[in-house]
Amino acid sequence: MTGPLRNGPRTLSTAHMAHLDILHHPDPRLRRQAEPVQQVDDAVRRLAADMAQAMYAAQGVGLAATQVGDLRRLIVMDLSAERDQLIVLVNPEISASEGSQVCEEGCLSVPEYRAEVERAERVEVQALGLDGEPLRLEADGLLAVCVQHEIDHLDGRLFIDYLSRLKRERVTRRLEKLRREAAQAGAA
Ligand code: ZN
Repeated sequence: MTGPLRNGPRTLSTAHMAHLDILHHPDPRLRRQAEPVQQVDDAVRRLAADMAQAMYAAQGVGLAATQVGDLRRLIVMDLSAERDQLIVLVNPEISASEGSQVCEEGCLSVPEYRAEVERAERVEVQALGLDGEPLRLEADGLLAVCVQHEIDHLDGRLFIDYLSRLKRERVTRRLEKLRREAAQAGAA
């Protein structure tokens, strides 16, 4: 997810990190259902580090593995102004939710587009941490919005799915046009 625009990404050591490309709607890979992680091992920790790097580089506040073409249920988030409060959730599941809020959202997979979406105001999330231990996250406000947005990605759902069909088709056409233009510019 993209948040309010503020300072740039924090400086990270990029040694040993793989560069991950973020998929853009309407890439069909964004619609796949991710699979639960069976064991939190070094490969999962490496994916989390690479995803965090990609999220910070793109100045996003959240990123799901689905967005980088990986089908493991893993999300990373950081809503702090200093970009130093990384949250990594493996196999996140919403176990309770209440209330509702409307928040303007953006998404690294739907560039240059923002729209208001209604979501639960507060959620409780059960997940595993990078140490493989269970953890519980209670979130409200923007963090609640972000965690719901990212878990949606793991189920192949995008925030534009909550909009009217007309609005969704309009943004899809615009992104398809941008992609054609980029391909033509690349071929020129
Ligand atoms: Zn997103």
